Amino acid sequence: MSGVVIVGAGHAGSQLAVSLRAEGYAGPVTLIDACEETPYHKPPLSKTFLKAADAAPQVLRAASVYDEVGVTRLTGTVSEISPQARTVTLGGEPIPYDDLVLATGARNRMLPDLAGASNVHTLRDLTDARRMRDALPGAGRVLVVGGGFIGLETATALAATGRQVTVLEAAPRVLARVAAPETSGLIETTLRGLGIELQTGWESRGWRQESGRMVAAIGAEGEVPCDLVLVGIGAEADTALARAAGITCNRGILTDACLRTSLPHVWAIGDVAETPHWQADGAATRLESVQNATDQARHLARLLAAGGDTPFRTVPWFWSDIGPLKLQIAGLSDRADRRLIRAEEGRLAVFHFRAEQLIAAETVNCAADHMLARQLLGAGKTPPDDVLMQGAKATKAWAATGQAA
Ligand code: FAD
Repeated sequence: MSGVVIVGAGHAGSQLAVSLRAEGYAGPVTLIDACEETPYHKPPLSKTFLKAADAAPQVLRAASVYDEVGVTRLTGTVSEISPQARTVTLGGEPIPYDDLVLATGARNRMLPDLAGASNVHTLRDLTDARRMRDALPGAGRVLVVGGGFIGLETATALAATGRQVTVLEAAPRVLARVAAPETSGLIETTLRGLGIELQTGWESRGWRQESGRMVAAIGAEGEVPCDLVLVGIGAEADTALARAAGITCNRGILTDACLRTSLPHVWAIGDVAETPHWQADGAATRLESVQNATDQARHLARLLAAGGDTPFRTVPWFWSDIGPLKLQIAGLSDRADRRLIRAEEGRLAVFHFRAEQLIAAETVNCAADHMLARQLLGAGKTPPDDVLMQGAKATKAWAATGQAA
């Protein structure tokens, strides 16, 4: 018996390895990653890790746990899948599988103009984070290209260390693709209050370069000088291995609702997977979040251990720490046709509806509303507007009794 081979030991792969055992899977489990590190949490890399020179990576689980549950960890880049032989190639050697799980995650995009400059960084893994942290002592002026989650988290983390930080965003507002205008507005006000210079609608006219380093971004209205640049313009699924094996891919590796790819005995989970989503009328959807990665892993562990055809279905949720703001999103809002806003000093709740059904909630510093929204979405319940506007206590009472308190 060859067992389950997992390529990628990030949030998804590592969870799958231990969940297989928890679900009673008795065959061999092999977990392979290009990186030697004990699998670690990625979110702190753009939050706490950069702030302290001695901050250590936070492991997902102690290295000994993998040994204790009988998971074999191997290091190296898997270079090929041979579907006929049912093997993957690692260091030139074939490794056989009964089931293969691709959990290869995503890779950051880079601006071609900036590639190769010695003071330009991206943030995806521990190597990136260490490289950037090592460069910070000589970097008083930091330029962040991109007002997405990683860019904004890093901007606030570095501003907290006393650096002068500028964020350049091409769209008219930060988080334009993923958040409501009211959320973007609160975040922008907060960033400016922290002393971060924010330029939205940035029109790039190129870069000034000296001795292989970027020294200024050139825009329509002038130059912004910099000592260090972080490019945070999003990521693309790491589908190279799957494509080379002939597996059907789109923006990610396409799977069915049970996380099966187009190749027999090959599955995909986490950032790399593009899966039919119940909240998107079954449209193939690729999500980048810890919740999605770990929940897909747990689901697949059940399928591989016990068999069956249960489709993957959870309420998607996500969080981001942007300075003093905790942004939490439950559900997918892109199909919404109406939104309801409850704004208080430094706090915000935005409820998204489609055909009067609650489909998502975005909250800032309103953790109780977020937790309730997850429950409501899971149960398919939509409280009346006036209840949602009264806050979490009233919503909780309504959820319990179906009546306003
Ligand atoms: P990953 O965790 O990226 O793991 C993929 C692994 O595959 C990598 O270790 C890679 O080395 C390995 N690999 C790839 N190809 C091969 C190969 N051919 N051979 C061997 N190994 C291979 N999400 C949130 O919900 N909240 C947050 O606040 C948040 N903050 C984030 C901050 C940062 C800086 C980053 C980068 C991400 C953040 N995310 C956050 C997203 C979250 O980390 C990802 O959604 C999650 O890591 C996805 O897990 P994964 O296992 O699919 O991919």
